[in-house]
Parts: sequence; C-alpha cells; structure tokens
Amino acid sequence: MTRIIINETRCNGCGDCVGVCKSRSLEIRNGICIATRPNECKLCMLCKVTCPNGAIEIEV
Ligand code: SF4
Ligand code: SF4
Repeated sequence: MTRIIINETRCNGCGDCVGVCKSRSLEIRNGICIATRPNECKLCMLCKVTCPNGAIEIEV
C-alpha cells in the first residue's frame, strides 16, 4: 500500500503539491497538506519534486 508521508514541520501549506497531483490524492486542511486519497496515488512523484520544502516522501 502506498504511503504518502507529509513532514508537518516542513509543510507551509502552499498547495503546490495539490496543484500538480492529477489523482487528487492531496488536500490542504488547516494550513497543512494531507493525503486524503493515498490509494488513488499514481506514484508520479510530481508532488515530491514540486514541494519547495522537501516535505513529501512516498513509500511504496
Ligand atoms: S506521487 Fe503523484 S499521484 Fe501520488 S500524490 Fe504525488 S502527485 Fe499525486
Ligand atoms: S508543496 Fe510541500 S509545502 Fe506546499 S503544501 Fe505541499 S507538502 Fe506542503
């Protein structure tokens, strides 16, 4: 099962990752990114490479 791990210390809620995720796996809630639909993740890694703060790790 895919795990999308958000480092809450690094995430500033900018939303860049949400914008690039075509599977809509991510949302911003209370100023922080949450993986709301990890099972829909296509493992494209766009969120990880887009995040300016290195806050996202994907585990397969
Ligand atoms: S790896 Fe791709 S599909 Fe998965 S959450 Fe990130 S942007 Fe979305
Ligand atoms: S791109 Fe990075 S800093 Fe911005 S909301 Fe996503 S995880 Fe947080």
